[in-house]
Amino acid sequence: MQQFDFPIFKTKIDGSDQKFMLEDPVERRKYFDLKAGPEIEKIRDYLQKGNTFVGFLLGPKNSGKGTYTKLFMEAVGGDRVAHISVGDIVRSAQKAGRDESQKKELVKFLQTRYRGFMKVEEIIASVVDWNISTLLETEGILALVEWEVSRLGRKAIFIDGFPRNIDQISLSLYFRALMGYRDDPDFFVYINVPESVIDERIKYRVICPHCQSPRNLKLLRTKEVGFDQEKKEFYLICDSPNCQGFGTARMVGKAGDSLGIEAMRDRIEMDKKVIKRLLDIQGVPKVYLRNSIPVTKAKDFVDDYEITPGYRYELEGDKVKVIEDPWTIKDDAGEDSYSLLPAAVAVGLIKQTAQVLGL
Ligand SMILES: [Zn+2]
Repeated sequence: MQQFDFPIFKTKIDGSDQKFMLEDPVERRKYFDLKAGPEIEKIRDYLQKGNTFVGFLLGPKNSGKGTYTKLFMEAVGGDRVAHISVGDIVRSAQKAGRDESQKKELVKFLQTRYRGFMKVEEIIASVVDWNISTLLETEGILALVEWEVSRLGRKAIFIDGFPRNIDQISLSLYFRALMGYRDDPDFFVYINVPESVIDERIKYRVICPHCQSPRNLKLLRTKEVGFDQEKKEFYLICDSPNCQGFGTARMVGKAGDSLGIEAMRDRIEMDKKVIKRLLDIQGVPKVYLRNSIPVTKAKDFVDDYEITPGYRYELEGDKVKVIEDPWTIKDDAGEDSYSLLPAAVAVGLIKQTAQVLGL
């Protein structure tokens, strides 16, 4: 059964036959300007005047939250927007906990901001010894998120992640506390991605060892593809414009990813349950992002080049030949669907963000 049924966002421009290669940053720039030019201008202007916002990203693990926000930042200019994930925050607090001067700052911050039942020293001790099975109480996570937010200064922020395994009251208190922490507008960003898409994303994902840009060997390639003669395998070469390793860095996969979504079934189910509850929260502006579109509706709502193709590679002499096939998946309701390329989903994020900000 389909758990979330979000409206389909139209990105097709009727009567336009322009085409873009969305994996190419230069073409992507033109694409964003065509599809969301006025909204991008308005958001830039809004940010340049010193305004900010907080967007809470609500999607299961591997639903593309990091990718969509990176593209949002690319489109509107990254220096005034930040993406923070609860996982990264815990890791950075861990680092701070081991460094004397940073630890002092963190302790001072927690002493003024934290309201809960643990002692500040206990929080820091539990963060430093953090492992996957440790659950920090909600108030502790909250204080750490606030700490990270305060360190960023005046920036618009997308916050990725929320405490799991907590009851409805704690959950709404968590968001209310964070929303009250700054006086700028906030909104929820719900992300709906079919499980079949998440599965393939995990199996073929790679990242750049220099700039951590995420890509996918099968679904989201870079411009240049290389071939490893020894391992007899193809690899992507990072093309992120701000990367140190631009044009040379070989993107790499992680051990264990070949298991796909089933390796993290519990986590996915828990995320879905929390998000489903959060859909009912009233009084918060909402942005809905849909990764997939039924095949029968695609023609009216999106342009062909916005649909995710599947890539295969072949060696032709010493050159890599890229072969593009249509990629059809079943969505969670069992309907034949296409998956949209991240840039097309990012257009939805940009336009709806401008809308909820009243621009
Ligand atoms: Zn890179």
